[in-house]
Parts: sequence; structure tokens; C-alpha cells
Amino acid sequence: MTTTSPYDILFTPIKIGPVTAPNRFFASPHSTGHGWTEPNGAIALRAMKAEGGWGTVAVGLTEISPNSDYANHPMERIWDNSDLPRHISQVNAIKKHGALAAIELGHGGMQSRNLTTGLPIVGPSNLPALRPEIPSQSQEMDLSDIHLFRNQHKEAVKRSVEAGYDIIYVYAAHGLSILNHFLSINTNKRSDQYGGTFSNRIRLLQEVLEDTLDTVNGKCAVALRFGVAEPDKLNGLCHNGEGRDVVEALSELPDLWDVNLSGWPKDSQSARFTQEGYQQNYTSFVKSLTTKPVVGVGRFTSPDLMVSVIKKKQLDLIGGARPSIADPFLPSKIKDNSIENIRECIGCNVCVSMDAYGVPVKCTQNPTISEEWRKDWHPETPPITNSRESHLIIGAGPAGLECGLTLANAGHKVTIAEARDEPGGRVTKEGNLPGLSSWLRVRDYRVYQLSQKNDTQLYLSSKMTVNDIIEFESDTVSIATGAKWRNDWIGSTNFEEIKTKSHNLITPDDIMSNKTSNISPSSFIVYDDDHYYMASVITEKLLKDGHSVTYVTPLPTISTWTQYTLEQVAITEKLRSLGANFILNCKMTQNQGFLNLIDNKNFEINIKNLVFVGAKSSNDELFRDKKLMNSIKNIFLTGDCLAPRTIQAAVLSGHQVARDILNRENKPKPLKREQTIH
Ligand code: ADP
Ligand code: SF4
Repeated sequence: MTTTSPYDILFTPIKIGPVTAPNRFFASPHSTGHGWTEPNGAIALRAMKAEGGWGTVAVGLTEISPNSDYANHPMERIWDNSDLPRHISQVNAIKKHGALAAIELGHGGMQSRNLTTGLPIVGPSNLPALRPEIPSQSQEMDLSDIHLFRNQHKEAVKRSVEAGYDIIYVYAAHGLSILNHFLSINTNKRSDQYGGTFSNRIRLLQEVLEDTLDTVNGKCAVALRFGVAEPDKLNGLCHNGEGRDVVEALSELPDLWDVNLSGWPKDSQSARFTQEGYQQNYTSFVKSLTTKPVVGVGRFTSPDLMVSVIKKKQLDLIGGARPSIADPFLPSKIKDNSIENIRECIGCNVCVSMDAYGVPVKCTQNPTISEEWRKDWHPETPPITNSRESHLIIGAGPAGLECGLTLANAGHKVTIAEARDEPGGRVTKEGNLPGLSSWLRVRDYRVYQLSQKNDTQLYLSSKMTVNDIIEFESDTVSIATGAKWRNDWIGSTNFEEIKTKSHNLITPDDIMSNKTSNISPSSFIVYDDDHYYMASVITEKLLKDGHSVTYVTPLPTISTWTQYTLEQVAITEKLRSLGANFILNCKMTQNQGFLNLIDNKNFEINIKNLVFVGAKSSNDELFRDKKLMNSIKNIFLTGDCLAPRTIQAAVLSGHQVARDILNRENKPKPLKREQTIH
């Protein structure tokens, strides 16, 4: 007898042109950070998604030609036949698990950098390239250049067919494609048949789509990835305007519509600013204009919501980039009715930040991502050991929980002792700050998984002393005691202590333990020498609590590092809308005043309450204790107590330490690196 599940609809096959996707889970194109120079890593990462049940796995943006060089963004390449072996391996690795393989072909146009090739950047008009970091203008393409580009695209399509891809993309999203640049009145100032009216500006997109359909000649499906709205752009496309007109004009042409919000900061919005499914308000109209299947994204991790958007006829396939990074086995877990085991994306965008650095993607929830090939890590299969030992872990923050879970998954006996009356460490505290509640998933996933193990104990309200640890007599001890925020003005731009007399100095730890909750509406300075999210979240909280806040930072921008998580504009807008004052380029001095770093003048701010968001200091009392270190043979440090970093780094550190513990009798393997020689 076959049993039915409310999620059956997610596992019904769907025809996409001449091919059939086995289910509705579509691992959307995204950069893995490995790019074309680290193919083994990229292939193993994508194959893992196919193994985890994603019915279609797409390869991220793939440059079609040398004048479409995005380097140093770690994109894929299919410039010529020498790229084929890599793509063939990739296709085979994906298809081995029964998934369809898709490739997103793209030409960067005015978003190319061409720093590797030195070729001119090309576009519809002779304008500054859309890369403020490069002092360059685009060459206006004449008709022969357009003809050449169409040929380059057709050749890349032919190579993709030869590699064995099932779905080939025409890319016109995120403002990152030459097709966007021809479509947009911002960048297209032409007066020939490719400029001016809407039907002229859409011409190149339509031609490339038709070229691609002709070239594949029914052997594979053709997808159009299109950003239907560009809310972050002046004169950007609008889903009620030309964005909709494009879908109407091309409605039956592609075999698959892959629709989203553009540019990338709008497409990959963090959980701090958006709920799951946030793109539906913009993209759901598409299905009413086409009979072709539609895929879209929106940080979907809830199977109920997935079913609902399909039943409401908003989407046919559920796209996932971040959800497929956080849990490559999300589809299998839904199929096996073990939804509680899904490692849900927390929407922190640490994965996104790695793209800016051009390094393999990392994830707060999934420490095994990007390590599939070079370390042989699998997100679901624990390392195998012959022995069965007992392990004591001090601290139940992200590092301690991940360390304990990895050891427990390997079948070992695990005891975690936590000083506070609740687990989670910093995520439990930070999860109560505005917009960060989804971060509690880091704790909840691990605590639940640990609760399902037989030989695992999590003791709360159990602050461990040196003697407690020695008396416990476990085979190994891991110290994961975290870190605290400093109150001595040591921060990113200042390594000298300042003794503050003139201010009522408050730290983020004070805010998170509600020490400011009894202060009646008052004025605060929030001084940011950390430059990630914390100062902005505290500013937001204080403003919402009815205080007035002046945000001060020695750097020239607000929450500088959040440019990498694509949140900086949203943070600035949010704080401005709540009424924050901003003083940039100013630092605290030894004489308790502030120094304007531009005009070199000192000044005072007459506000007593000052939240200092600077560096952290490790909670190192235990591991600095000689008696402890001398008494225990196998003692390990992990997470923020080793070196305060991001939550993602703490989780990875906890995972790595667990594997080091399990492997400690063996010689450590050198980190596998990809090195090519021709
Ligand atoms: P990480 O990010 O490295 O996991 P956290 O600060 O989030 O660090 O978590 C560290 C946890 O360790 C906190 O929950 C803290 O209460 C706990 N802790 C610190 N010292 C002790 C101790 N001596 N015994 C038990 N738990 C401790
Ligand atoms: Fe999600 Fe954060 Fe992982 Fe990215 S890094 S996939 S946003 S949990």
C-alpha cells in the first residue's frame, strides 16, 4: 500500500521542454567560490546536492567568452573546448544521482572586469563600466560586435550541449548580464534597432533566446533567468512595468522561466530584513502569463510553504541556493518524512560574503560545505572510528554543540556542560536582538539532534571548574567557553586601552543581558569599532526601545563589513528610518573626546551612555590553568575561546576539533589543493 504525504506534490516529476525533472527541488545557479580554477571542489559540492535529492542542480554563472571575464569573482568558464573536460565531469557527477544538470551561461557586458584578458569591456553604449572599482568605460558595440556576441553565445551553447547539460540558461538577471544592459534605459542610449523603444531594447534578449533554442534543437531545455524587478536601481525594471512586459513578450519562448528580484542584494536578502518566501510578492504574476514551468527562490526551507506556493500556482519548482548550501539533503529529508532533521538556512549571508573574497563558500549551518572534495567531508555521513570513547565538552555555544554533535554522530559518548541555564551561547543571546531570531536555528538544530542520541547528556547550569573537569575523567576534554565583549576600547582600529571616566560604558553583553532595560528614554552613543552587524543591531534595539542614538564609527561607512553580506544598504536605510544620527570617520581619544579623522579636529558629544562595540576577549580562564593543562592529556580548544570570530567560524571550528579528536591517532592529512599544470 502506498502512503500519501502532504509533500507528495514536491516529488512529482515535471516536464521542462524536452527533459523531465524528477521532482520540484531545483538547486539554483550560484557561485560556489571555487570557480573554474578549483573544479574538483565545485563538482563535489554540486554532486552532493544531487545526492541529497535536488532533482535539478544548476551550475552558477559561466562566462561564455574572454571579453566576459568577471575575475576575480570566482565564476565558471566555458570559453572554448579546453573547458569541456571539466564540464563533462561535472555533468556526470550530477547525473549519477539521477538529477538534471543545468548551466547558466552569461556575458557580463558592462559588469565584466576583463582584468585577466585586458580586453575592452563591451556594452550597448560608451559609458562608465558598472564597476566603480575599475576606472574603465565600455566600448559601444556596433552591429558586427553584436553579431560576434551572438555567435559566442551560440558556440558556448554548443559546448554545453556537448558536455551533456540538460538545461541551458540564457541569463538576464541581477543586472550582471549584457542582456540586462541592452534592456535597461539606464545603460542603453542607442538610437539604432537595439535602442530606444522597448521592442528595440528587448531585441537582443529575444534573439539570444531564439539562437539558443535553435542551437539546442530540442536536445535540451532552455531556461531564461530574468530579474522581474530591480527595486534597488533608479529607473530599474518593475514587476508592474517593463519587467512584466518582458514576461508578456517572451512568455512561451523559453522552456523554463527562472524569475527573481535583482540585483543580487535584493535577490539574496538576509533573514534580518526578509521572511522566507519574500520574492513571491514580485514574481508570482509570472505564472499567469505563461504555460511554461516557473522556478523561483526566497530562502525556502519550510515544506509547507513550498507546497503552498505550488498549490497557489505561484511556482512549479522550488529554487534554493542558500537552503541547498545549508542542507544539501533537504529534499531527501522531506521525502523521508524527517523534516525535524533539516538544517535550515539562517539567512545570515556568510556564504554570500565569500564570493566577494573569491574563496570557496562557507556556511554557518553546514560546516562541511566546500570540504566535500578537499577534506572528504560528508554532511550526513559521520566519520567512522573503531573506538568508542567518552568526551567532555565545556560550553554549549555553537562550537561546543557542533563539536558534541559530530562526536555523537560518530557513535561516541558525549557530555556537554553549560554554565548558563539555557544552551546556545552567543546565538541564544543574539537571537533576541531585532531581526536575528532565525539565528536560533543554529542552536535548535543541534540541541534537537543531540537529544535524539542515546549516550549524550547536556547539563545546564553547570559551570565547570578545573577540579570538576579533572574529576570527570573523560577520554578527551574540549573547551568551548566562548568570549566576551571588551570594555577597554580595544577594537579593530585601536589596540591601546582607554580608561573611560566621562561615559557610562555599556557593552553588547550588558545590552543582551537586559542591563539597560530599566533606563528610561535617554540618549546613547553606539561606538562601532567592530564593523560587522552588532553595533547596528544594538542601535536598532535602542531606537525601538524609545532611546535616541548617535552611531559613531572611525570608518567611513556604517557597518562596513556588512557590504559583504549584502546588508549594508538595508542596515543604513533601517537605522535612518528609525531616526539614528550618524557620525562617521571619528574615533575616541585618550582624553575622552572624539577626533574627526578628516579635519583632524577634536570634539565632544554630550551623551553619557556609551555602548562600546569593539573587540572580544576569549574566556580563557580554564585553558590558562596549568593544573588543568598538565592533568589532562587530550585537551582541545575550539570556537570563540580559541579566537573570537563569526558564528560560522565557531561552528566550523567545533566540527574540525571533533574530527581532529576522532582522527588524533593518525597523522593529519595535508589539505588537498587544486593545482593545474598544462
Ligand atoms: P562559541 O561561539 O565558541 O560556541 P559561545 O560564547 O557562543 O562560544 O558559547 C560558549 C558557552 O560556554 C557559553 O554558553 C558559556 O555560558 C559557556 N561557558 C563558559 N565558561 C563555562 C564553564 N566554565 N563551564 C561551562 N560552560 C561555560
Ligand atoms: Fe544560509 Fe547563512 Fe549558510 Fe548562507 S551561510 S546558506 S545564509 S546559513
